Amino acid sequence: MTKETYGLRDAADLIGIMPSTLAYIVSAGDVLPERGVPTWQQHDGNVWNDLTKFVFTAADIERYKTEMDRRTFAELKIAYADVYQADAGPEPRGLEFGPGWTQILREFCDHLRDFNDTGRTCRLRWGKEKFGALHLFCDYDDSIQRYVEHAKGIAYGRSLGTCQECAAPGRLRYGDMICLTLCDRHSHLAAPLDQEKDGKILDVSAWSRSQRRLPE
Ligand SMILES: [Zn+2]
Repeated sequence: MTKETYGLRDAADLIGIMPSTLAYIVSAGDVLPERGVPTWQQHDGNVWNDLTKFVFTAADIERYKTEMDRRTFAELKIAYADVYQADAGPEPRGLEFGPGWTQILREFCDHLRDFNDTGRTCRLRWGKEKFGALHLFCDYDDSIQRYVEHAKGIAYGRSLGTCQECAAPGRLRYGDMICLTLCDRHSHLAAPLDQEKDGKILDVSAWSRSQRRLPE
């Protein structure tokens, strides 16, 4: 009996994600299709994953669904339902950053819980990764603005030292196309690196301020 298999696009459909998201997860390297990752080598020696030849089994589909639960912070959203309130509106934002920052997010939510316990209201609405750093967006009482901003600053600082994929110690990888905070094992996700800036600029926002150029 032949086992049914799926190409990248069909597999992504079954998981309920974009093919590019599935390709990214495979390239992160921690959850691989059981039949392996087909690659091809360019004339310059670079090896690329050959997306056209990806093969996923039914078991793979289930494993990637579980992985998507991790990447969408499914457990955390339930555990912190008292302080996480999903963004609403015509174009709602989510928790748009890597699973390696789960613990940072948990501790941030614990802070919000502490604020709520004192009778103030504070809710996490959404968050994003930008230039390799974690930015969190909340609704809160004006009276606790200082404290919430302080907690956000802690999360921001910790994210710049934590691999956004696996939570191992990391640093900002300054790529030609993208800046991400990654450990050595995941640093390929930001490749090719900017040889001049990588390892020298470790916080793009701070560096931009020092250059008197604010990002955006
Ligand atoms: Zn990592």
